[in-house]
Amino acid sequence: MIIYGENNPGIGFVRSDNAICPNCDSEGTIRYEIIGKYFHIFWIPVVPSGKTGGAVCSQCDHVMHPDEMPKFIKAEFKEAKSSIPIPWWQFLGLGSLAILILIGQLNNRFEFSHAEEYLAHPKIDDVYTIRLAEQEYTSYRIDMIYADSVFMQPNDYSVEKEYEIQEIDIPQFYLDTLIGFQKSELDSLYQSGQITEINRP
Ligand SMILES: [Zn+2]
Repeated sequence: MIIYGENNPGIGFVRSDNAICPNCDSEGTIRYEIIGKYFHIFWIPVVPSGKTGGAVCSQCDHVMHPDEMPKFIKAEFKEAKSSIPIPWWQFLGLGSLAILILIGQLNNRFEFSHAEEYLAHPKIDDVYTIRLAEQEYTSYRIDMIYADSVFMQPNDYSVEKEYEIQEIDIPQFYLDTLIGFQKSELDSLYQSGQITEINRP
């Protein structure tokens, strides 16, 4: 199965008023056929790969490839070639790729966080990422939950980058000392950015 390759569809033609057919000497019978090549993957046009084509005489059906054209016909052919635009659909693959990349980037940027939901309904073993300083993050893990307070085990270790927090989220790293927080206190720590993320195992 061929899953990629090049297609060569005709994308337009231009009639010549003055060219004289070198085969039958008729005037104004030459037509320039323009071909817009494109690469496809799974038959989806991915990227245009240039234009080519030829000249055909409508009187005698003589066909000329670019390297067989007399000077004057070749010049007109070049002009015709640049006057026919590359059709938009040949950019479909490139366009879709650009859109996919854009969606991917938007997804990353607005990655859905459960933090607020977890904050409102805490569960034992929820892991809170705590920002201690400019480049210092640690994690607290919920050990006990009461009506309006939560007790957490602080992590003995810290990391420089927020995303490294998983590296220290290891059961043995959590201290036995419990720290109590009012739930309202946790809310304000989250609002102020000291709690940066909440993960549920
Ligand atoms: Zn002819």
